[in-house]
Amino acid sequence: RLLLTGQGMTTPDRLLGGLLAEGVDEKSCHSRYQSAMYRRNAGRKPSPYLATKLRRHEALQRRCGPGTAAYNNAVEQLRSGENIGSSECKYLVSISYRGLGNRLLAAASAFLYAVLTGRVLLVDPSNEMGELFCEPFPDTTWLLPPDFPLVSYTNFSVGTAESYRNMLKNNKVRDQPLPAFAYIHLDHDATKQDQLFFCDEDQRHLRDIQWLVMRTDNYIVPGLFLVTGFQEELDMLFPEPDTAFHHLGRYLFHPNNRIWGLVTRYYDAYLAAVDQRVGIQVRVFGIQPESPELLEQITKCTQKENLLPEVILGTGTEEPAIVAARKPPLSKAVLVTSLKSWYYEKIKSMYWEHATATGEAVGVHQPSHEEYQRFGAKSHDAKAWAEIYLLSLTDVLVTSGWSTFGYVAQGLGGLTPWVMYKPDNGSTVADPPCGRDISMEPCFHAPPFYDCRLKRGADTGKIVPHVRHCKDVSWGLKLV
Ligand code: GDP
Repeated sequence: RLLLTGQGMTTPDRLLGGLLAEGVDEKSCHSRYQSAMYRRNAGRKPSPYLATKLRRHEALQRRCGPGTAAYNNAVEQLRSGENIGSSECKYLVSISYRGLGNRLLAAASAFLYAVLTGRVLLVDPSNEMGELFCEPFPDTTWLLPPDFPLVSYTNFSVGTAESYRNMLKNNKVRDQPLPAFAYIHLDHDATKQDQLFFCDEDQRHLRDIQWLVMRTDNYIVPGLFLVTGFQEELDMLFPEPDTAFHHLGRYLFHPNNRIWGLVTRYYDAYLAAVDQRVGIQVRVFGIQPESPELLEQITKCTQKENLLPEVILGTGTEEPAIVAARKPPLSKAVLVTSLKSWYYEKIKSMYWEHATATGEAVGVHQPSHEEYQRFGAKSHDAKAWAEIYLLSLTDVLVTSGWSTFGYVAQGLGGLTPWVMYKPDNGSTVADPPCGRDISMEPCFHAPPFYDCRLKRGADTGKIVPHVRHCKDVSWGLKLV
């Protein structure tokens, strides 16, 4: 695991090419500077412009964040319902809800929007968001303090009176004074008017409102790339647009020391010593039964794509001869993550009961099987986060289409996954069983279908060259 310094070897870059700032007390967050030692794939390099921008943003978070006079002032104004347009500090509150993958994609999206608009990002600490990560910004907190005056903000929904859609409907976007806050609704049930958020004119309306509260469970970043006013800045931040989440995720999401213990103990015990690590994410939805078809899809995919060896089926007489001078075979570790243990049991038995055609030794491991998705259960989220992170430490990754859990793992790992598609007919094996994705980016599942300049419906997968439709969710958008 450790890249030793010596001839031809380099020490891992603990600051990830300038993505991370120096100076955070290592004991408070081991993962922050240790993660590079656990990654064989060092990942892509951030642009120097991104690094500089992040340092400037950290300074903004410190200057305006909770506990500062500027923050107290802004909260006072919010309480009084006034908006003083000239205030130097503006804020974006990101509501946290749904599964962990969704929450991480939402927080990364909100962060990029905050960076682009010079806003301080404050994350709603509910649903464990305050208990799984280290603070990303040195010497300040990104968690929204408990005395936030909009007491019912976590209930904001499509019908909330202060939504941007209602501001438009009631012709209030040009009103002076501006409202003290506006609510941005980008959940699955967002209307076309809510989605005007992705247009330049609407961004101008929102620019001077001191507080924005945003609800999304989606990776809205491809939508931000559609906003003409952001494009020049985004080009400089991400000269390689397909690395947006890779960098945002590695910058923001550091497992706290408790989760880092789960990650490193598992990695050291089961994954560190082998020649190659193969991650397989088997997302089982609802009470879906054990599916022999899905199992077949997994084995077909991994064998057809040469990620795992085929096995020699038969009576045992075909067993390869044992070579006298024993040389350890090449070894592979398969990391299966799933709510169920059945798939893991089957794959593990297959590689124990049969020899591999290549002679490779294949070990199969699964950290947990929680059986059902649960909401608000502490150890459940901790395991989910550790498993997402472990998947991101593998060398090759197979994911289940549609799953934000897999998206986060592939982005953190810098891995373009093989995606197992959902079969058209629930009971047959998808053909082909999987395919290489077009990039490591997450898919934006609920994008706008509107051309802001032409003011009419449009295929948003055809407007800018690096925003394309996803393979797993055909109407979704992703960066390439
Ligand atoms: P998505 O629903 O697949 O997009 O992923 P999310 O992460 O948003 O929500 C699924 C939730 O179910 C996770 O956050 C976990 O709590 C749980 N879950 C799903 N698959 C796994 C798994 O393989 N391991 C663990 N530990 N939890 C899982």
